[in-house]
Amino acid sequence: MNKKKTDTKTKKQKEGKAKLAEIMPAKEAGKEATAIAECNDRNCPFHGRLRTRGRTFEGRVIRKFHKRITVEFERMIYIRKYERFARKKTKIHARLPECVEKQVSIGDLVQIRECRPLSKIIHFVFVKKIKDKEEK
Ligand SMILES: [Zn+2]
Repeated sequence: MNKKKTDTKTKKQKEGKAKLAEIMPAKEAGKEATAIAECNDRNCPFHGRLRTRGRTFEGRVIRKFHKRITVEFERMIYIRKYERFARKKTKIHARLPECVEKQVSIGDLVQIRECRPLSKIIHFVFVKKIKDKEEK
């Protein structure tokens, strides 16, 4: 006597898999958002080979470009003829590494440090953000 076996697949397993698939994309998206800690930028003081030396300045970001920021700060100079101090502004172009590009926006107070000349106008590199821009 031969009895045919009937396959009875449980539907519960399939449902379980479907639920997992729904959750997975959300987890992957979360990982991408937090994985900006590394970058392939060669001229990055944190991950690349760029060394910093020399002078350090703090100033406001007044313009932002791709991989570059313009930092401005005030300094006082003494004018002997008038025996008074005058305010002067200094603008410096600084390299902005890829990994911190999204964190920095116009108006922020940042610290920049001197490095080897990266181009005709860029001899400084972004080191850290001190303060967010002040909202009025
Ligand atoms: Zn980096």
